[in-house]
Amino acid sequence: MTSFNNDYLDEVYGDISRRNSGQKEFLQAVREVFGSLRPVVEKDERYQKAAILERISDYERTVIFQVPWMDDNEKVHVNRGFRIQFNSAIGPYKGGLRFHKAVTLSVMKFLAFEQTFKNSLTGLPMGGGKGGSDFHPKGKSDMEVMRFCQSYMNELFRHIGEDTDIPAGDIGVGSREIGYMFGRYRRINNKFSGVITGKSTSTGGSLVRTQATGYGLMYFTEEMMRAMSGQSVSGKTAVVSGSGNVAVYAAEKLGQMGARTVAMSDSEGYVYDPKGIDLDIMKEIKEARRERISAYAERVSRAEYHPNSADIWSVPCQIALPCATQNELNLADAKKLIANGVIVVSEGANMPSTPEAVDLFHEKGILFGPAKAANAGGVACSGLEMSQNSSRRPWSFELVDDRLKEIMLDIFQKSYEASKEYGREGNLVDGANIAGFLKVAESMLWQGIG
Ligand code: NDP
Repeated sequence: MTSFNNDYLDEVYGDISRRNSGQKEFLQAVREVFGSLRPVVEKDERYQKAAILERISDYERTVIFQVPWMDDNEKVHVNRGFRIQFNSAIGPYKGGLRFHKAVTLSVMKFLAFEQTFKNSLTGLPMGGGKGGSDFHPKGKSDMEVMRFCQSYMNELFRHIGEDTDIPAGDIGVGSREIGYMFGRYRRINNKFSGVITGKSTSTGGSLVRTQATGYGLMYFTEEMMRAMSGQSVSGKTAVVSGSGNVAVYAAEKLGQMGARTVAMSDSEGYVYDPKGIDLDIMKEIKEARRERISAYAERVSRAEYHPNSADIWSVPCQIALPCATQNELNLADAKKLIANGVIVVSEGANMPSTPEAVDLFHEKGILFGPAKAANAGGVACSGLEMSQNSSRRPWSFELVDDRLKEIMLDIFQKSYEASKEYGREGNLVDGANIAGFLKVAESMLWQGIG
């Protein structure tokens, strides 16, 4: 029985767990946020009076729909599509689309719930949303992916709009998928609008969006190290899980900051390169050719391939960046990292560390950057793309990158300040949850009930 040592939190969480039983990822995310909120609800009784916790932990609207599509052999498949419109108190719903076979309602809800707090932290006017499908793009031809994306948009278009809900990419949804969906939306609506972010730069997309989450993660991490321990990324050895969008650009920025990434992974295994991963080769394998990561060790003779991706956390490093997926770093992994001298763990993926692993990092004084603060660079840059679309003026790479950096430093500052103000100094999980919560909760109070 979960207890937060506060009657209001306990009662609301009890209701949530009854109404969402079996949705383990969603309940895990809610527990994590509620675990930070005791000092907040004890300090201000308005939240309880206006049932803010009950309202902030339930979606405003969810759409679930059928997505039929035809493969290249004319066989018809049916997938399930989702869009969770979680909270729009501070702006239109905003959050990515995930296409992966492991997508369920619980995964969608956990991501949309997290997104609400993350978007709040960016300081930009964006509410929280998320969506996707259990369609798995891997191994599908471009034409199959196009037919799926078009069919998905045939339903989604009714529920989104540049002032209502603005989707973007996530796992399995990159520039190719965004392009197919944007094209179908434009055609059905006879309207060119900034309804999706992550567009190509020739179509109103923002420079830096591809790099934003990985670069933002490193701006946040550098600032956390500087402010909380007087250290810097420069000269450190890093391990980065995943080899997708977030992982590749986190590794790129690590290199630019003077660190060396010695291991990266995909869902089948990891590669270890003692001299540092050659990112040109990695990008060619993963971005251009869409191959398995084992191809890296075939191309680079000094590198080793290990066929179990979870073992990546046994590679010694000072900086560990989980950038693949949820719950990929557990207590045993945390123990190995600590035994091998890790000094900072910063989350590029959403909820990649299990609660037990996070507790151990805090207990041992490891600097820990939680996802909703550390990986907010992607959605922040999407917010900047929305500004550019509204004003119909593209910004330069340098301008967007500078704004991104400013936003990430501000997120660190807000999270750190909140951790101090509420008696949990240095615990950025609590700080980020509290700072993200306060803005949304104040706006909900201001707007009344109903
Ligand atoms: P991609 O689809 O580009 O890449 C995901 C990567 O993770 C792939 O290399 C994939 O390998 C790997 N992976 C998946 N499951 C596992 C596993 N169990 N063990 C090891 N590797 C695995 O996704 P993104 O890089 O966009 O997203 C990664 C994470 O970052 C997600 O949690 C996402 O929600 C989060 N995020 C992404 C943002 C963005 O801007 N893209 C913004 C904020 C958060 P394989 O190819 O074998 O599947």
